[in-house]
Amino acid sequence: MSVGPTELIIVLLIVLVLFGASRLPKLARSMGQAHKEFKAGLSEDASKQERVEGPCPFCDGKVPDDAKFCPSCGRPAADIVAARRQKAAS
Ligand SMILES: [Zn+2]
Repeated sequence: MSVGPTELIIVLLIVLVLFGASRLPKLARSMGQAHKEFKAGLSEDASKQERVEGPCPFCDGKVPDDAKFCPSCGRPAADIVAARRQKAAS
């Protein structure tokens, strides 16, 4: 079965009946907002990379978010992230 213009119109009609014509602009707006938030989340992930927050793999101490060093053993955040990645891979 191929999806042609006729099928698209039928789907649109079903959507119209389900949601109501008056609610369509609101629906479109919320969909646009969701898309915007999705894109914002993607760029945030790319810029933030990996979080240091969580248990330290060297001393099991608690490492706060955005910490440069482990407050318990003094290991740099890069070492903590690398050790965690190695642990997850093995
Ligand atoms: Zn530590």
